[in-house]
Amino acid sequence: MNFHSTRDKSKTLSAAQAIAKGLSEDGGLFVPDSFPKLSQDDFKVLLTMDYKARAVDIMGRYLADFTAEELTGFAANAYGKQFDTECAAPVRTVNDGTHYLELWHGPTSAFKDMALQMLPYLLTTSIKKTGETKKVCILTATSGDTGKAALEGFCDVPDCKIMVFYPKDGVSQIQELQMTSQEGSNVSVASVYGNFDDAQTGVKKIFSDPDFRAELADKGWFLSSANSINFGRLLPQVVYYISAYCDLVNAGSIAFGDAINFCVPTGNFGNILAGYYAKQMGLPVHKLICASNANDVLTEFIETGVYNRKRPFFTTVSPSMDILVSSNLERLLYHLTGGDDAYVRSCMEALERDGCYKVSDELLKVLHETFACGCCDEDATKAKIADMFGENHYLIDTHTAVAGHVLDVYRKATGDERTAVVVSTASPYKFCGAVLAAIGGTVDCDGIALLDRLNEKSGAPVPKPLASLKGKNPRFNQTFEKEAMTQVVRDFI
Ligand SMILES: *Cc1c(COP(=O)(O)O)cnc(C)c1O
Repeated sequence: MNFHSTRDKSKTLSAAQAIAKGLSEDGGLFVPDSFPKLSQDDFKVLLTMDYKARAVDIMGRYLADFTAEELTGFAANAYGKQFDTECAAPVRTVNDGTHYLELWHGPTSAFKDMALQMLPYLLTTSIKKTGETKKVCILTATSGDTGKAALEGFCDVPDCKIMVFYPKDGVSQIQELQMTSQEGSNVSVASVYGNFDDAQTGVKKIFSDPDFRAELADKGWFLSSANSINFGRLLPQVVYYISAYCDLVNAGSIAFGDAINFCVPTGNFGNILAGYYAKQMGLPVHKLICASNANDVLTEFIETGVYNRKRPFFTTVSPSMDILVSSNLERLLYHLTGGDDAYVRSCMEALERDGCYKVSDELLKVLHETFACGCCDEDATKAKIADMFGENHYLIDTHTAVAGHVLDVYRKATGDERTAVVVSTASPYKFCGAVLAAIGGTVDCDGIALLDRLNEKSGAPVPKPLASLKGKNPRFNQTFEKEAMTQVVRDFI
């Protein structure tokens, strides 16, 4: 299996090369040149496996230059004791036809762990396989969840450092303390005055500064990113779609071969794209339903074929989906056009130049064969949390509630009542204030105190990694102007 850039098919890379590089020089993302197909017999074997073995089997089909032994070691470490459940990604059945795939049982209580616990092994091994001798410094700007998950994943990984920048006023108190109390000898965290865009722009500037890169290379270091454009972050996410399907078959909830729907709370389009990969591999998926919050750029795109990022930006109670440019959509365009790199290039150029592009009617037709969509405003998000708790005594977070609501609307509009899985992306405790308010609790303080209050009100257990924040002191407490970020990285290295 080889990899190409979405913007230029002429160059061919191995999996290790694609993961080590992260992003192509032409600005494109790396994609596999085909989808490995799972046969009936392959599925029969997958049904008998645990989560780790499923990860080895599925990822191995894309990673020709990794041995099964290597991947077995990675999976044992990535999905081990740091998860509070043996199966890593359990399916919770709420009623006969609706299941919640809980992807937040890892060390940071958000679904980013599913990929970021695995990425460090894939990345450091890929770097070795490509003969690179410099050490890697991971540089990441975060609006909250990615930063902590990346710190946790790369903590104390040999020959590797990680530095995370977050916007001083852009993350919750819990998210901030999660990051600033991070342990490990190779980590650093700093906040930046301004919003997420300021932090993100600062990091992008550092990446595109050739003088600084040369200076780092002289010292034996190169920069890489942990964000979701790396194929090594996409691939581990394919596993849980297939694993959830196997679990539903094993539980007798569906018969093998039944097509089901997945509804996915979407921001950067990474999670739902992994579902598309699973479908292309032969998983019986009828529709992938793309759920957005008030930032409904993807809803408009899937409905009309027009992607337009020139629109107001809303700050919502589901902040990890507050995104106007969904980078991974580029990969979908590539696959839906049968690998038309020139077409993808022209769309991405238009997006940069005009802030929008429109895809062809043919492409839109193919898109609709697999994708449905919907968006959910703030009131509906809160109402869904309240309903789920009131009717099923099941507590969900704000992002998951967006997907739950969109699934309800989809079912009413289409009459498609088949078995559906809502992809649950964060523990409700990670967005304590909004969740507590939604179920009628009093929110007159912020931060750690709310964990106990939500626990008293709901009876749902507080995840250990969040409960253990109590009494922790920040190790990192410096805030910088964005102009100073390069110097901060220089000092750190
Ligand atoms: C990152 C994130 C999302 C969005 O996932 P994408 O892969 O960016 O579409 C949804 N919910 C939560 C809790 C997240 O952290």
